[in-house]
Amino acid sequence: MMDRWAENRKREDGLSESAAQGKKEGGDQAGRTAGETAGVSTEAGIRAAVSHFEVLLREQLLRQQRMEEGEAAVDYSEKARITIGLIDGDGIGPVIMREARRVLEKLLADEISSGRVVLRKIEGLTIENRLALGKAVPDDVLEAIKSCDVLLKGPTTTPKGGSLESANVTLRRELDLFANVRPVTVPEEGIDWIFFRENTEGEYALGSRGVELPGALTMDFKVTTDAGTRRIARAAFEYARRNGKKNVAIVTKANIMKKTDGMFSRIAHEVAADYPEIEAEDWYIDIMTANLVNPRLRSRFQVFLLPNLYGDIITDEAAQIQGGVGTAGSANTGSRYAMFEAIHGSAPRKIEAGEGEYANPSSILKAAEMLLRHIAMTEQADRLHNALEICLETERGVIVTGHRDGARCAEFGDYLLEKL
Ligand code: NAD
Repeated sequence: MMDRWAENRKREDGLSESAAQGKKEGGDQAGRTAGETAGVSTEAGIRAAVSHFEVLLREQLLRQQRMEEGEAAVDYSEKARITIGLIDGDGIGPVIMREARRVLEKLLADEISSGRVVLRKIEGLTIENRLALGKAVPDDVLEAIKSCDVLLKGPTTTPKGGSLESANVTLRRELDLFANVRPVTVPEEGIDWIFFRENTEGEYALGSRGVELPGALTMDFKVTTDAGTRRIARAAFEYARRNGKKNVAIVTKANIMKKTDGMFSRIAHEVAADYPEIEAEDWYIDIMTANLVNPRLRSRFQVFLLPNLYGDIITDEAAQIQGGVGTAGSANTGSRYAMFEAIHGSAPRKIEAGEGEYANPSSILKAAEMLLRHIAMTEQADRLHNALEICLETERGVIVTGHRDGARCAEFGDYLLEKL
């Protein structure tokens, strides 16, 4: 169904289309007049917002119905040909992706030469191209992405404000990548965590489609669906069962977000009932952020299950405990597609400081390991895992600090290739 927000604003209060669009996007305020925030114009704004909300509700209901129908996951061990799309991204993306490509080419040399695996470079997901076309993911890029089975993606820049949606949010929605899985380990402290973050709902589903009564208020929407929660909860408890984990922490703010987080917690417990050997515990996100830096408590946690925004924030905290965002990889998986990436962004300040070549590639290399496991190339994933362990123990002093005082990204790549 078409979104009529801008159209309604234009029709009901006589604003020009560009001014109405500017208001929708929270950017251009040029078309606003003094009387517009009160009286008749405010009434028109409210009516437009209400009909916009109806559109959103209907769209989300349709999405919930589609999810209920479900889709079987791809069995990669049976697949004759697997296409891995490689996307450089922005900022330090091309630097770390260069090493990831070299590693995949070496690990998958046999499969590439036999045609079982194809590495396909996907161009055009750059901030320059996206801004020029005004599209979070340009149509031809999305088509190229959909021709692949799995993706390894460098970080992409999202401008603050404006209307350009994050490429990641768009891809997660378009490819229905509902599970964001982020492992964090600190063996010497007994930390072995894995986070299951819901990846398509919460504050992100409609993040660029909130409403604004200019000069008066803005309102964004948070979405939790039954089917969306059930499938991420199932993924977390299945993982726990398959990996002998005994505890899943369900982390919400259900005391405040009573509808959305309340439903997330309730459904998570319904799913948990199918896994009686696993303890399901409720935690609030605020105290959980404190728990992660509490050395007396933190090693007791194993699997975390969280709505989108909390998962986004707390996994950066967890990565920092592991050694920094440059050390953590993540998987975005759905039934049909999967995308693997570093958890960090494009580090524009590092580029500005001329330190891009010193970026740490272990984040994207850990993501590459997760990709290999996902496509059932376990032996290659183990080889990468073991080589990374050796290199990160820095027996020969190839230490990447992210700055000029450390090794370059490419030096670490050379070292890793030696150890594979
Ligand atoms: P950032 O993750 O890019 O950087 C945070 C800090 O971590 C910076 O000090 C940076 O130098 C450092 N850092 C990041 N990766 C590193 C690496 N591999 N090695 C060494 N140091 C590293 O976060 P930000 O500055 O908030 O975001 C920059 C841009 O990235 C924004 O446009 C944001 O929207 C985008 N972003 C994209 C993704 C993604 O594509 N998955 C994720 C997060 C942020």
